[in-house]
Amino acid sequence: MREFARPRVVVSRCLGFDRCRYDGSVIPDPFVSLLKPFVDFLPVCPEMEIGLGVPRPPLRLVKDGDKARLVQPETGMDLTEPMLLFARRFLEGLGEVDGFILKNRSPSCALQDAKIYASVNYGAAIGRRPGLFAEEVKKALPYFPIEEEGRLTNPHIRHHFLTRIFALAELRGVRELGGLVEFHTRYKFVIMAQGQHHLKDLGRIVANPQRLPFPMVFPAYKERFLKALALLPRRGSVVNALEHAFGFVSSSLSPKEKQYFREVLQQYRAGKWPLSVPLSLLRSWAIRFQVEYLLTQRFFSPYPEALVPVSETP
Ligand code: SF4
Repeated sequence: MREFARPRVVVSRCLGFDRCRYDGSVIPDPFVSLLKPFVDFLPVCPEMEIGLGVPRPPLRLVKDGDKARLVQPETGMDLTEPMLLFARRFLEGLGEVDGFILKNRSPSCALQDAKIYASVNYGAAIGRRPGLFAEEVKKALPYFPIEEEGRLTNPHIRHHFLTRIFALAELRGVRELGGLVEFHTRYKFVIMAQGQHHLKDLGRIVANPQRLPFPMVFPAYKERFLKALALLPRRGSVVNALEHAFGFVSSSLSPKEKQYFREVLQQYRAGKWPLSVPLSLLRSWAIRFQVEYLLTQRFFSPYPEALVPVSETP
């Protein structure tokens, strides 16, 4: 059975790790719990790291031109600078990680939906924006898998997030050029599903025509790989990858089987069937015809099966 590399994931500490919310509560998160046997979590609570206790008066974001200040209305404290300083130091000392899961709606951790107010003490929210800590994370690591726990209930977003963190964990283990070529080969269909041009660009880097040493090739490959997988794939690109994979088995199939696969693709393209249907079909044919090249492709099993909820396959 295949062993998966363990992703290192920074997580908001209140998501099941500690009673560190302003009111002393903790929020058990089923997805984070599910991940625990497969992931090394690095829990962090930015508000506690800047010296706030539990319980504590709540914080809010207040508009300051096109920026936001982090304030504690009850005490009048402005915590903007301590939070920015902590975020930068934290990121500098972090080492290699493969992703982030942050708490939504928090003025510190939210990726996009923290409320912002016009004044420290009065009035309703005037909009939404990222929390201060999360904003620094996004600035420092623009193409990284960084998600809010709320968005991860969406099966497409979750599948994409899991694919990326397990891919980065595997890439982290690559130590020499031969290993990088093998990694690229295993991820060929994952990259193709993101867009054919990504495959071309990454193929050029890994071909290494100038015979550059590994320490020069690896960072260029990693940066381009992160960019390639940054966005959710379009169905058209995924269908292209499925059709390419189908090319490895189609000559062994009957006309009826081929016709059935075309119908399955149409249903997937129309958003009626999940990706797992054409993937399972292709995988079963790869097993039947012993197509080793397809069986080693991460496209068919990018992360442990235990992380695929039966009722919510993407
Ligand atoms: S959302 Fe972030 S800052 Fe707030 S309690 Fe959770 S980890 Fe701490």
